[in-house]
Amino acid sequence: MEFNTLLLRGKEVNRYAFGGTQPCISQSSTYAYQSAEDLEKVFNNRLPGFAYTRVSNPTVDAFERRVNELEGGLAALACSSGMAAVSTTLLNLLCSGDEIISSNALFGGTLEFFRELEKFGITTHLVDRMDVDSVAPLINDKTRVIFTEIVFNTSLDVVDVKALAELAHSHALPLVVDATTVTPFILRPFTLGADILVHSSSKYITGSGNAISGIIVDSGRFNWDFERFKALADYRRFQRYAFIARLRSSLWRNLGGCLSPFNAYLNVVGLETLGLRMERICHNAHALANALEGVDGLKVTYPGLASSPYYELVQRQFNGLGGGIINLRTGSRERAFALMNKLKYASLATNIGDLRTLVIYPLTTIYQHIDPKSCARVGVYDDTLRISVGIEDERDLIADFSQAAAFEN
Ligand SMILES: *Cc1c(COP(=O)(O)O)cnc(C)c1O
Repeated sequence: MEFNTLLLRGKEVNRYAFGGTQPCISQSSTYAYQSAEDLEKVFNNRLPGFAYTRVSNPTVDAFERRVNELEGGLAALACSSGMAAVSTTLLNLLCSGDEIISSNALFGGTLEFFRELEKFGITTHLVDRMDVDSVAPLINDKTRVIFTEIVFNTSLDVVDVKALAELAHSHALPLVVDATTVTPFILRPFTLGADILVHSSSKYITGSGNAISGIIVDSGRFNWDFERFKALADYRRFQRYAFIARLRSSLWRNLGGCLSPFNAYLNVVGLETLGLRMERICHNAHALANALEGVDGLKVTYPGLASSPYYELVQRQFNGLGGGIINLRTGSRERAFALMNKLKYASLATNIGDLRTLVIYPLTTIYQHIDPKSCARVGVYDDTLRISVGIEDERDLIADFSQAAAFEN
């Protein structure tokens, strides 16, 4: 099945109750059984069923199965937010003394979480460029995870996933990716060798900016060495399923960051139009980036433009799709603010992956806790705007940004 057909006709759709084309919203905390024996069996995984919504729930289960099917994974697990998915994944893999290699261009929340992990004896090495040449020299016998985004949210640097996966595997390490900005429409990371992926489904997957949520998907392909991955040692009998088994039966369940059934439902509904929305968003973003590149005084970063250093990689890895985010340098903070204040359609708001175009001045908002030098490394300067392009009509978007960018000075 092609992408959009799979979104509507995947086999998981046939499992919805009563033949519904959408799952029921099972807004119940607990599930009752007719006999003590049955309840005991459900708890012991000897009878299929649900017991308590923090642990499993029919609507959440529907969302997990659908994303897992789309990504081609072994199993998926939904979380209360994208950050819950990121933090739970790392805590499930790591012990005190272990090390992570990642990029200093990561989403700010993830970078801040790495700092918290220091207090638990887990060290992170951050590179400027997330490529084989920068990462390879940092791998040592304490390294347990290589973690990366694929198109970094804000710098828009693009990672060669296949090259990084090969490097990780040559050192018997898993590659864990945050695939939020690409979505399975642009790339299914497991096809290039990623082992575990997370999404902030608050963004493109739910799509309408209506449900904070996250999801973890395990490819089930990584061959864990339980002498090195001590965090998973109690689950060695599950072999390649050890990562998801520990999440499900202990770490995720007891951290308690479960997704609400209603938010799971919004995600299932949103997911079905992911292909349509992403096609439109990528088209609009490319057209807007192209138009703004011709405006005096603006410097545009968009991975899909021929002027991008990642253009060739975007053609090869993403089939030419540059995603939905544009970075714009305007010349000064004053101009950036003037541009924002003159926009008629775009909303001045944080978030990405909404139906609406959103614009933010990152330096003093989403990057306020990060020092200016680190901001510069991720492409955030005192004149930078981040645009999350929506599904409005291309001509309206271009006209709006063009009039707003007609600076007087
Ligand atoms: C938004 C985002 C997150 C965090 O997701 P929340 O749902 O806001 O917790 C993590 N990674 C990336 C790349 C994001 O864009």
